Order: sequence, then C-alpha cells, then structure tokens
Amino acid sequence: MTVKQFQAESKRLLDLMVNSIYTHKEIFLRELISNASDAIDKIYYKALTDESISFNQADYFIKIEADKPNRTLKIIDSGIGMTQAEMEENLGVIAKSGSLAFKKENELKDGFDIIGQFGVGFYSAFMVSDVVTVISRALGSDQAYKWESQGADGYTIEPCAKDTVGTEITLKIKANTEDESYDEFLEEYRIKSIIKKYSDFIRYPIKMDVTKS
Ligand code: ADP
Ligand code: MG
Repeated sequence: MTVKQFQAESKRLLDLMVNSIYTHKEIFLRELISNASDAIDKIYYKALTDESISFNQADYFIKIEADKPNRTLKIIDSGIGMTQAEMEENLGVIAKSGSLAFKKENELKDGFDIIGQFGVGFYSAFMVSDVVTVISRALGSDQAYKWESQGADGYTIEPCAKDTVGTEITLKIKANTEDESYDEFLEEYRIKSIIKKYSDFIRYPIKMDVTKS
C-alpha cells in the first residue's frame, strides 16, 4: 500500500485550516454531520429519480458513537457513500466539493437542502483528531474502501469490508495538551450541546451511543 501525498496547495490549505480558519474547534462536528446529511439527501434525490432505488425515511439517520476508553468518535451515515475514485477526488484534494458537483450535475437549485459547496469542511476533523479513517461503500457497489490520514503527510486508500451502503468516519481524538482540552469531544453532554447549537436544523434523526468505560 502506498501513501499518497496531498497536492502541495492542499497541504498548505490543510495547515491553514487546522491552525487558523476555524477559531472554534467544536465546529468539526457540524461539518461532518452536514456531510452525512448531504449524503442522505443525495440517496434520497437518486431514489426520487430512479425507481429501482427505494427510500424509507425510517432507515435513514445519522449515528454518533463516542468511545471514551478508545478515544474514538464515529459519525456514521446510511447515505450515498463514495467510490474509490470519489474518495480520491473529494477527500484527497482539498477545496474539491463533490456536493457542489452533485448540485451542478443534477441541476439542483440553491434552495435544495444540500449544504456542502466549498470542499473544506471535512478537513476540520483534523483540528481534533490524530487520525481520520473513512470507510465507505457507494450506492450500487459491493466493494467498500478505507481512506486513512494523519493530516498533512498524505493518505492511504485500500479495499475493505462493509455490509451496508454508506459512510463511517472514525476520529481518533487527540490527547489533551497543556493548553488545549480534547476530552470534552468524547463527553455525551458536550456532544449533545454542540449538535443542538449547530445541527438542530438537520432533517434526519441524529442518534447517539456512548461507551464510558
Ligand atoms: P463540501 O461539503 O463543502 O463539499 P467537505 O470538505 O465537507 O466539502 O466534503 C468534501 C466532499 O467529500 C463532499 O462534497 C462529498 O463529496 C464527500 N464526502 C464527505 N463526507 C461524506 C459522506 N459522509 N458521505 C459521502 N460523501 C462524503
Ligand atoms: Mg461539507
């Protein structure tokens, strides 16, 4: 497995993102939940235009799993997923928005709910994570892929197993430092308040599961 480098511009942008664009680290969760909601919107839109795809509202939700002993936070969605090529394009190139492309391809008006357009939100995950792992299986594919990165050094992609279509993002939450606390992002009350503050408008249910010890 080879480690692929982010483009030089992407590397600089990633440094900028992690260090300065966002003053509040907590917004990483808003960005990842927005992406999960966008992915569900896309499968919903596909179902509207393709009879062979069914969409049962009850099957579509976003799940947050916090595991304190392992310091991981997962954001799981049953949305449209990503192919290997889409992972390369949308996660390997910063400022490349698959959602903006989707809106254009499908001639969706701005009023449609899909939120993404700048192609930078995903990288806010590195403000709170040492490692970001994305496991995804695209609609219409049997093969899933795992994308993994520790930040500016690049990323790997390899085939993996996943039973259902959708995406699972695992953040390995940073250890606390003298100046910064990250533990809070594994606390149920804190996660709930961040969701309430920034993601109250999301129209899919957000479920939560916390492992405390
Ligand atoms: P934006 O949302 O503005 O497009 P992001 O940096 O947040 O930019 O995400 C980049 C792209 O990665 C998205 O446009 C989308 O194509 C893809 N992506 C990110 N998260 C997911 C997800 N959970 N499911 C499917 N695709 C995703
Ligand atoms: Mg986004």
